[in-house]
Amino acid sequence: MTMIVELAEDVYQICGYPRYAINSYVIDGILIDAGTRFSGRRILRDIARLDIRAHAVTHAHPDHFGSSRRICEELQIPLWVGHADAAAVETLGIMYDRFPDHPAPRILSRLQGGPPTAVDRHLHEGDRVGSFVVLEVPGHTVGHLAFWRESDRTLLLGDVATGHHPFTGGRGLREPMDFLTADSRRNRESITRLAGLEPDLVCFGHGPVLRDSDKFAEFATSLR
Ligand SMILES: [Zn+2]
Repeated sequence: MTMIVELAEDVYQICGYPRYAINSYVIDGILIDAGTRFSGRRILRDIARLDIRAHAVTHAHPDHFGSSRRICEELQIPLWVGHADAAAVETLGIMYDRFPDHPAPRILSRLQGGPPTAVDRHLHEGDRVGSFVVLEVPGHTVGHLAFWRESDRTLLLGDVATGHHPFTGGRGLREPMDFLTADSRRNRESITRLAGLEPDLVCFGHGPVLRDSDKFAEFATSLR
């Protein structure tokens, strides 16, 4: 069963399994995020009918670039990462060092993480990725990126916020878990910035999409 859904013009969601637990997206032929090390075969199958020309990741966490190397090698495409997260994708020890002092991220990394991967291009604020523009939204990781298309107010925000509870799957917007977040205060500032864009479609790394800009604004306000 295919698990890829067209959300907007040239924007596809790869819903993963369990559904929405770990999402990837394709925007204008660019794969955004690549799940855990177990996700590669499924993602490759789901994107097989699309013409994929590059792969970008929102941030250097094991459930977002776990299959990046496999997919880039198999499709012969370049890997693009935010300039401040690139070192953590290329050297896993740097990723470990940047986690909060808590056992969970190390355990999750061992369970889910894939191999380190060479980065071909560093992304910066204002760069174009297809029809989207790159936003630097640090906090969850130091080099976290979001992708924004103003023409139809579509936002991909990685783990700056999640669309459901990561363990129970319960509905509702949430901040990412503190024990997985490098700097929660900075991440709140990034949530506030993104809410200020008034997105009509919000696409999360975890959880179903949100098509309700009021709800996202209320969520951001509730954090203050
Ligand atoms: Zn994350």
